[in-house]
Formats: sequence, C-alpha cells, structure tokens
Amino acid sequence: MGISGVLTVLESRGLSGIGRTRFCKAAQPGIFSAMNTPSRIAQRVAAITPSATMAVDGKAKALKAAGESVIGFGAGEPDFATPDYIVQAAAAACHDPKNHRYTPAAGLPELRAAIAAKTLRDSGVQIAPEQVVVTNGGKQAVYSAFTVLLDAGDEVLLPAPYWTTYPEPIELAGGVPVILQTDESTGFRVTVEQLEAARTPKSKLLVFVSPSNPTGAVYPAEQITEIGEWALKHGIIVVTDEIYEHLVYGDAVHHSIQALVPELADQCVILNGVAKTYAMTGWRVGWLIGPADVVKATTNLQTHLTSNVCNVAQRAALAAVEGDLSAVDQMRAVFDRRRQTMHRMLNEIPGVSCISPEGAFYAYPNLTGLLGVDLGGRTASTTVELADLVLEEVKVAFVPGEAFGTPGYGRFSFALGDEDLEEGISRIAALVNGAV
Ligand code: PMP
Repeated sequence: MGISGVLTVLESRGLSGIGRTRFCKAAQPGIFSAMNTPSRIAQRVAAITPSATMAVDGKAKALKAAGESVIGFGAGEPDFATPDYIVQAAAAACHDPKNHRYTPAAGLPELRAAIAAKTLRDSGVQIAPEQVVVTNGGKQAVYSAFTVLLDAGDEVLLPAPYWTTYPEPIELAGGVPVILQTDESTGFRVTVEQLEAARTPKSKLLVFVSPSNPTGAVYPAEQITEIGEWALKHGIIVVTDEIYEHLVYGDAVHHSIQALVPELADQCVILNGVAKTYAMTGWRVGWLIGPADVVKATTNLQTHLTSNVCNVAQRAALAAVEGDLSAVDQMRAVFDRRRQTMHRMLNEIPGVSCISPEGAFYAYPNLTGLLGVDLGGRTASTTVELADLVLEEVKVAFVPGEAFGTPGYGRFSFALGDEDLEEGISRIAALVNGAV
C-alpha cells in the first residue's frame, strides 16, 4: 500500500472523532480491486488498519533507495549501532551448538532471571523469573497481553495520543478501546477525573504509557500514584508499557506504576524490551511481566504461536540486560541534544507550536496553524493531507496525528542524525516561509 492509501485510512479515522472508523475496503482500490466481494479475508483481520508509522517509514526508505533525498522522521528507531558486546554475544551464540534447539516457550531461564534482576535494578519492582515471558519484540508482548486479558465487549481505557499499535490488537481480541483525549493543556497526560468519567462496569483495562510514544510525555510520581490507586480501588488491570524507561531528559524521572503502588502487583502487566534502550529494534526481543495466571496463559498462547524467540536474539538480549547502562547513557545524551534542537527549530516555524518532550525520542507539535494556508501553491485541510504534501514537496516524512487518535498534530522522531534532523526541519520551514 502506498502512503496515500494509508493516509486515506487515517483520514477516515480522524474524521470519526473519538470513535474509530473501520478500514474502508471500497476506498482502497489498489489493494482490493483484485478481490471479489464478499472478501475472502476474515472480517476481523480485514478490519485491521496497517501500521501508519511503519508505512511512513517504509515509504521514506523506498524513496531513499530510489535515489531521492528523503529525510525520514517516521521511524521509532535509534540510528546507533547495537553495542559491540551484545553483537559479540550473538556471534558466539551462533557457533554454540546448544542454540540450535528450541528454548522453553517463555524464554531462556537465564534470560528470564536476568530480566527479573534488571526489573528490580531499573524499576524497583521485585518479581520472580517465572513471571517473565520473552516475546518477539515488545509488539508481541502488547498483542499477547490484550489477547490473554480481553473478552468480547471488555472496555479498555486508552489515553490519546496513543501508540498506533494499541487499538488494533484490542479490537482483534474483541475489546472496545475507549479513547480519552488529552492535549498540551495537561502535557498530554490523562487525569484521574477523565478516567473516572469514562469508567463503566465493563471497564477492564487501562493502558498506561510513560514515557509516551508519540508525545514524549513523562508522568510525575504523584500522578502515577493517583492513577495506580484509582485502578486498584476499581479493580482495573493496568497494562503499562515501559519500553522508553531509560530515555528521559532534564528533570523528568521514569517511575514504574507497580513500584509506586505495590498493591497493584496482582493486576498489573509490565511490557518492555531491548529495542529502544540498546538500539536493538531489529533483534526482536521484548517481554511481558505479570501475575501467575497471566504468565501461564501468555505462555500457553506462545507455545502455539511462535514456540520461542530466536535463540541467538535471546542470547544477545541476555548480554544487553546483564550489562550496565553505559551505552544507553551515551545515546541518551545525544538524543537530548537532538531533542533540544528539534524543539527549538519546530517552534521557530510560523504556525507550529511544540511542547518540550520529556522522554522517548519524539516531538509532537501542534500543526493546525499550517492547515488551510498556502504551502508551495497547495493547501492541506488535515494533517494527513499535510504529511502527504510535505513528503511530495520537500521530501520530508512525518507521521500525521490521525495515526495516534489526535488529528492536528504530527510525530517527528529525533532518533536520526543531527545533520538530517536540521536539514529536514529546515526544509519544512522553507516550505512554510514560501522559500520553496
Ligand atoms: N511500545 C511502544 C510504546 C513502542 O513505541 C514500541 C515500538 N515503536 C513498542 C512497544 C514495540 O517495540 P518492539 O516491538 O520493537 O520491541
């Protein structure tokens, strides 16, 4: 699917306000025209919207491969190489004959133990190795958590802007995402009042993410405690995604909700992985931590789904989580510099305003000031159209806010080289300033 196909889908989603419109096959002639109606694709899968972030990134990479000078702000992917000691551990694992075998479905025992030790070190949460299931990336942990926990009609409280991958597995599992809108006025942080107003007898889960993708928001300890105590009181399970735990800047500090509200242990599922902390996106190792019944069900599912994560990748992840955090400290310093450059340069563009991201590696500017204005002789009426226009006119890719449930914004990753970053934002500035 080309970007315009994805953008059409997003547009229909954005126009639907807080509700989400299903993928409209009729509007996708390129991919569906070969099929006769009724579709032979199962309805629940035909309803899936492709990942917009991956589509934007794929389009940017394809244009680059075709020789275009494209700057891609789409990917949530560090540009650094995986640290060498991790690569060495993987290379050694390739030569070790014991690694030709399946591992236990929940993962190598030594990796599960190392993840338990790391969780105590980094999050202050004491867990047993048996509470860990190693998954194919954090993404599979997200998918498994919703599959294991949701029955048809269960409501999931999902603050927006949300990472684009949460709603799809919620709906595939039969759950109903209940979207809670946030904006700059609360630093893109959901309040307990909003949660309480949305709570119904069917509310089963809350998705809690700090630092956030796409906004970079980091919740302060008091607010996390308040949310955790609210969830505890109402028996709502918290699925907390901590994949950006080590990427916080300035005065921001990451806190695990289970560390602040330990009584939540029996109704808390922690998702994490090596992708962002150790520049290991392509290695595909993540994990889920939860109470015994959740871990048992997730492991049972995994025995039929993937058996186990690739042995070599698990050995690499073992080296990563057993090692110290010096590599991520260095990466964080570079991300912080880029964060400040991006924040400054975005705010210098007329019509763009951006709050300072406190974590992860994304800026999430408000772009409504660019809608309806002349940009190189064209105008965009939505951020989906704006993303298309900017890609076509100045070869800069960003992900429109519709992908995250909040039209009017755009996500710009600052996990790319300093020069590219400055060049990309300068191109948008030139377009807006009429210099293109
Ligand atoms: N959670 C969040 C919030 C993410 O941004 C991502 C990656 N973009 C993931 C989970 C999954 O990461 P991976 O599958 O690469 O481990």
